[in-house]
Amino acid sequence: MQYPNSAFESYQGLGMTSQRTRNRLVDRLKEKGVNDMNVLETMRMVPRHLFLDEAMASRSYEDTALPIGYGQTISQPWVVAKMTQWLMDSSQPIKKVLEIGTGSGYQTAILSLLVDEVYSVERIQPLSERAEKNLNKLELNNIHFSLSDGHWGWPDKAPFDAIISAASPAELPQELLNQLKVGGRLVMPIGESEQLLYGYKKTSNGVLKTCLGEVMFVPMKAGVEA
Ligand code: SAH
Repeated sequence: MQYPNSAFESYQGLGMTSQRTRNRLVDRLKEKGVNDMNVLETMRMVPRHLFLDEAMASRSYEDTALPIGYGQTISQPWVVAKMTQWLMDSSQPIKKVLEIGTGSGYQTAILSLLVDEVYSVERIQPLSERAEKNLNKLELNNIHFSLSDGHWGWPDKAPFDAIISAASPAELPQELLNQLKVGGRLVMPIGESEQLLYGYKKTSNGVLKTCLGEVMFVPMKAGVEA
């Protein structure tokens, strides 16, 4: 296996954070039905422990969501894989992606290795700053950060080939669909106490919606927090 750059070598980890441990996580993802080889390879390479506190690092390669502070969580690897795989399973090239909810930056790192440009929006300033710092450590240079409310997308940078959200609104924000290219894909949870993951394909004749199962994400909140 070839790491994307030498920074990945420096952060490959030892013991519970080692490459062997990451390989075991990837095996579990395959058993659970993830079959996009590019997605699996990026998840094999990205050191999830870099995006967690020291105290949580030994649990980095459990297939579970974990706390990252400020009441937020790093997404479960299986959910990251499933959402990314659904986005990439497109007949049209996916080059420019909008991510709502940078959080730890883990999903951002995965996307950054698969597409040309990632535009990532987060409403909690310290999370956005920490994610940027960690993503810089991996020398990932195709990521753009914004401290803003993702309900409004990133209008200046629209349209996008794909949009992904790790925060769940009560209803799909129309503005996000507006910022998606025709032929583009959007994947996100919808709902409050009960949430479902949906995939939307924007076509010239309207929007096709697919339900991808039950999930549990943090709520999409309004405004920004410094
Ligand atoms: N993929 C991230 C998920 C973090 S949890 C990871 O694996 O670390 C979801 C994130 O969405 C949280 O950081 C939360 O602050 C953020 N969020 C919630 N509502 C938002 C909004 N309206 N705009 C931008 N980010 C939002």
